[in-house]
Amino acid sequence: MSSTKYRSHSASEVNESLVDQTVTIAGWIDRLRNHGGVAFVDIRDASGLIQVVIYDENVARPLHSEDVLQVTGVVRKRPEGEENADILTGTIEIVADTVTVLSNSATLPFQVSTELENKGELDLPNEDLRLKYRYLDLRRPSMHANLLTRSNMSKAARAVLDNLGFTEVETPTLIKSTPEGARDFLVPARLVPGSWYALPQSPQLLKQLLMVGGVERYYQLARCYRDEDFRADRQPEFTQFDMEMAYVGQEDIMKVAEQVIQAVWKSAGYEVTLPINRISWTDAMNYYGSDKPDLRFDNKLVDLTDFFANTPFRVFQQQYVGAVVYKGGASLPRRQFDAWQEWARQRGAKGLAYITFKDGELRGPVAKNISEEERAGIMDAVHAEDGDAVFFAAGKKRSSQELLGAVRVEIAKRQGLLDPHEFAFTWVVDFPLFKQANDPDDDDVAVGHSQWTSEHHPFTMPSEEWLDTFDTDPEHAMSDSYDIVCNGNEIGGGSVRIHRDDIQKRVFNVLGITQEEANEKFGFLLEAFKYGAPPHAGLAFGWDRCAQLLTATDSIREVIAFPKSGGGKDPLTLAPAPITDLQRKETGVDYQPDDDEE
Ligand code: ASP
Repeated sequence: MSSTKYRSHSASEVNESLVDQTVTIAGWIDRLRNHGGVAFVDIRDASGLIQVVIYDENVARPLHSEDVLQVTGVVRKRPEGEENADILTGTIEIVADTVTVLSNSATLPFQVSTELENKGELDLPNEDLRLKYRYLDLRRPSMHANLLTRSNMSKAARAVLDNLGFTEVETPTLIKSTPEGARDFLVPARLVPGSWYALPQSPQLLKQLLMVGGVERYYQLARCYRDEDFRADRQPEFTQFDMEMAYVGQEDIMKVAEQVIQAVWKSAGYEVTLPINRISWTDAMNYYGSDKPDLRFDNKLVDLTDFFANTPFRVFQQQYVGAVVYKGGASLPRRQFDAWQEWARQRGAKGLAYITFKDGELRGPVAKNISEEERAGIMDAVHAEDGDAVFFAAGKKRSSQELLGAVRVEIAKRQGLLDPHEFAFTWVVDFPLFKQANDPDDDDVAVGHSQWTSEHHPFTMPSEEWLDTFDTDPEHAMSDSYDIVCNGNEIGGGSVRIHRDDIQKRVFNVLGITQEEANEKFGFLLEAFKYGAPPHAGLAFGWDRCAQLLTATDSIREVIAFPKSGGGKDPLTLAPAPITDLQRKETGVDYQPDDDEE
């Protein structure tokens, strides 16, 4: 019931069954039409709109858009022909008896009217202004709907895990660093001058300690903090739906995670069929040029390295040559192919070689440079037909595949194949355990000091067949880790964890983390493993991304109540902000060790 001190009903609860009865409602003035003698006022609360009719000129005159009103009056049917089919309460109205202004509103910096939004006539300002006045932006029903979807997701996920005997545990946010491949946000510890807490990049180590502590099944909606360089659609703080289980292997945790996905998607009205498909990391890279492939459409990459093994074309004399077909692309005008070159350069590639195949003829720069034999066979080799275009990439395998993977998605986008209301899930499994630490295309921070860093994080278990050899052949070692991918987004990931200190030490060793350093950074974890650590595994969902997918919005900022804008700034509170001299002194941010010696 919405009946409170201020109202008998919410706007949407007022319906035809209340005709001739007196009700009290409260809300903002969404729209005001004063016809002299009679004023129509649409009142908006979180539930929707209702029309109030005011016959008293003196009452109506001072009212202003977005004032907060309390109205008591009698419900009546609207006169014939005056109904509004766009709103739930469109066949009735309230004839005001008493109108109380609970709070006045100044003129808004931009409009938020539901009525205008419903008609598609709302002119939204730029995002910085929306964020500066986020509390106004949130008055729009579409923003409410996003927050509601998110709230329903969390309820659904909690219900699944509660049923399975999980315990929700809050882990601290003032902690020692957890390496997830980013920089830590640091907080000065006033009481221990010169010492700092880190904000968790994830609850990883703490949830592992909970397993050693016998919790067995843990989950948490956890806030995580990563101090990364600005990239579109990343937030310095974000939410994970984080879980961990003891005495389980990869299959067990995947099964639970699938149930969570099914329930969460259902909470927003979508059916997900289980089990979710799996693809190995290697196949994902080979076929889709991405470790988070968008499988709403097919169009696999074709490996042409063997086909071009003896090519006279210098550009293709490389470690890898691959291609992706643009169905029907041959009829695109030349300037579009020029635009594709620019597109590729913006992604850091040199360009994008292509061939078109039309009326039995090959055209485009590549066609001229390859051999007669290659010309004869190329269309069959890539499974292209007359009317298609083919894009090529040649060079280092991983980066060329990634370029083609991006081309594949861009083609699908231009062909209108990316329906935001269709969801294609896949597990990506069989990840490498390590990756090169100094890859210039990768902005992860290496966790140690060797040429290797963790593909996932340093607590990931090598897969069973690599247990003896992962440290002698780190390049090829595989891990027991898994990502869950939806429509080209990694929406979650996890792994089986190392629960033995000997294996953990060997992994640190490969990463170039010395014994002292390991003890200094993770001594507490290694120590915990000495006292009987059950085998355990877990996973975390990126909750903001899941919410974005389920609301079909184009940024995670649309599903976060108060997000940061570019560069990690908050246009509303103006954080981050300088601190005072006194705060500097008290928190000891300028503390030097010699300050003690006096
Ligand atoms: N802690 C991991 C992450 O943040 C998730 C996991 O392995 O459970 O990516």
